[in-house]
Amino acid sequence: MIKITALQTGTVSIKTKQQAGADGRSAFGRKIDMLRDIVWSPPLPILAYLIEHPEGNFVVDTGDTWRNSLRGYLPRWNPFYTTQVIVKVGPLEEVGELIRARGLDPARDIGTVLMTHMHHDHAGGLYHFPHSRIVVSRENWKAAKSLSGMVQGNLPQRWPIWLKPDLVEANGAAIGPFARSKQITADGRILMVETPGHCKGHMSVIVRGEGLTWFITGDATYSEDNLRANLVDGVTYNPALSRASQAKISEFAESEPTIVLPSHDEKAADRLQRDIIFRR
Ligand SMILES: [Zn+2]
Repeated sequence: MIKITALQTGTVSIKTKQQAGADGRSAFGRKIDMLRDIVWSPPLPILAYLIEHPEGNFVVDTGDTWRNSLRGYLPRWNPFYTTQVIVKVGPLEEVGELIRARGLDPARDIGTVLMTHMHHDHAGGLYHFPHSRIVVSRENWKAAKSLSGMVQGNLPQRWPIWLKPDLVEANGAAIGPFARSKQITADGRILMVETPGHCKGHMSVIVRGEGLTWFITGDATYSEDNLRANLVDGVTYNPALSRASQAKISEFAESEPTIVLPSHDEKAADRLQRDIIFRR
């Protein structure tokens, strides 16, 4: 029996042009559009997911931290942080507290943390898991800690000093439209697949239950509505690649009963609770 729970670590507001860029716009054009945009999204959830599995407890992404509110936590030199994003996380909204509220100790009871990617609003809660195996794709890890990674939403200077992730590659069997996968559990029910575009090396997590599959997209898409319309975000480094990743997710989610779970979808927690599966 596998159980999945959405853990909301506060909210993030972004520009509407970050949520979805204009069709045909280049990766660079999308950044210009975001900077010029004066319309904000409503506060969107920052979601992590807890997976209780017979082989142990897994967490997918770790949300953000209340430390965003401290002066100097987010680098002032980067206009992305000063003008493009409003993160609101309370101390009791961090992933560690949310796990503790479910009767588990984040430092002891979580075997593995699966990272879709290292953006600050996914990696901000990593420090709650000092004894867990942290899994991230080799490609995303390399990109995130580079200088360009620091410009593009990653905060390697804030990662825990003990962080030595297990760097993985999708070198396993094909699954549906995904040419390769990374098997996570021995029973094959938790897998990671490559969904690049939002950033380099982005991966999504597939969890196969009994007759029902959960597809944790990370930021490969911001919402199920965007997925259905194949609308690509403003952050992407390659719109065509993002579109191809979203098309694969849709194709997979149509091929078996699947609940689609993005990280910033206002309706994701409700779909999870009520078993609402994806329909094109
Ligand atoms: Zn992201």
